[in-house]
Amino acid sequence: MAKKQSGISCCAFCGRPADMAEFLIPTPDEKMCICPDCVDQLHQMIIDYHKQVAAGNGKNVNLKDAKSGGINLQKVPKPKEIKAFLDQYVIGQDSAKRYLSVAVYNHYKRLAQPPTDDVDIEKSNIILVGPTGTGKTLLARTIAKMLDVPFTIVDATVLTQAGYVGEDIESLLTRLLQVADYDVAKAERGIVFIDEIDKIARKGDNPSITRDVSGEGVQQGLLKLLEGSIVNVPPQGGRKHPEQKMIPVDTKNILFICGGAFDGIEDKVAHRLNSHVVGYATGDKVRRHLKREDYMQFVAPQDLKSYGLIPEIIGRLPILTTLEALDRDALRRVLTEPKNAITRQYEKLFAMDGVKLEFTPEALDFIVDKAIEFKLGARGLRSIVETIMIDAMFDIPGTEDKKFVVTPEYAQEQLKKANFEA
Ligand code: ADP
Repeated sequence: MAKKQSGISCCAFCGRPADMAEFLIPTPDEKMCICPDCVDQLHQMIIDYHKQVAAGNGKNVNLKDAKSGGINLQKVPKPKEIKAFLDQYVIGQDSAKRYLSVAVYNHYKRLAQPPTDDVDIEKSNIILVGPTGTGKTLLARTIAKMLDVPFTIVDATVLTQAGYVGEDIESLLTRLLQVADYDVAKAERGIVFIDEIDKIARKGDNPSITRDVSGEGVQQGLLKLLEGSIVNVPPQGGRKHPEQKMIPVDTKNILFICGGAFDGIEDKVAHRLNSHVVGYATGDKVRRHLKREDYMQFVAPQDLKSYGLIPEIIGRLPILTTLEALDRDALRRVLTEPKNAITRQYEKLFAMDGVKLEFTPEALDFIVDKAIEFKLGARGLRSIVETIMIDAMFDIPGTEDKKFVVTPEYAQEQLKKANFEA
């Protein structure tokens, strides 16, 4: 085994340059080399190939199947199935669900494509735009439940440009490596959800006046990851330091889903739409009838640019979809309908003590009213229910009570007692 062969500059399989690979293994004639990651990948292909033969697919198996990284498209959930799964946990947000379902399905297709084909299916990273507490992270988490590729959620706010206090951009991939048990080939097919992407928007129009180390600097760094390149990842995250051994990760096949609230972007949309429709009678009509929040559905890439994302980043996030603010009806459904609904969780907690918990419909309406009154949205539902239930959860275990009914009167009394409004 030779260390970085002279005259051989890269792995013949993945093209990784010698200085990015741990070492290169030469062929006997020393004309070509392979890197350890490709050896791992080939090993996995052979395992998958043997599995398919053992499963009785012997006749149909060829190396192409094995090269599909073990992905059997027949077994991958179809977009409609992915959406149906999301429907069980997330209320509304149909458009975002459809975009996500297709993107994830296409991600599998891309992973399954034979590397020798002329047409290369490129990845389409996604950006989800919607007010806070509308289900962006919930969608990401829910999708993670049904995937068999590594998936991680990271927060863009902890990142800063290299050399400044905070985490290096490459550390985004550390979590992915961790969930893939440091299996690089596996991590290289994963999905990363970057939350709060709006928080790295450019802070001002003139970056030369103030250094924008957590804004544009981070966006520039992120670009490298989004467009697909070989990135040196610190195995333990945080800041890189000279003695640390880095793990090279190719981001070409990693799907990035970004989410952000983009507070106030409605104004940019309104501004753009209104300046476009001036002079048209219908334009005035549209303007008169749209409420501020209604503009959200018309968010377009140029609005993200006005908000402070650099055009190169926007170009690398070609799928843009929006989430709507949850109205009264949706909030009411959030309380009871999702598989993991808050009220269901409390019912389960009480059932474990042999107590049947019931919320009357009026009590549920009351909880929704309070969430709206305090402008807490879906996020607030949990804290309201928690406040209402704390005494019962304290008092009931160990008593003879077999049933507990939450009425609006009880709920109101509990909130008052806890000084919730304050
Ligand atoms: P964000 O859009 O800010 O990422 P989250 O997905 O974190 O919002 O939502 C916060 C909480 O609110 C979730 O954990 C969930 O309980 C609830 N929630 C928000 N949106 C929905 C939704 N569309 N359907 C069901 N629950 C929701």
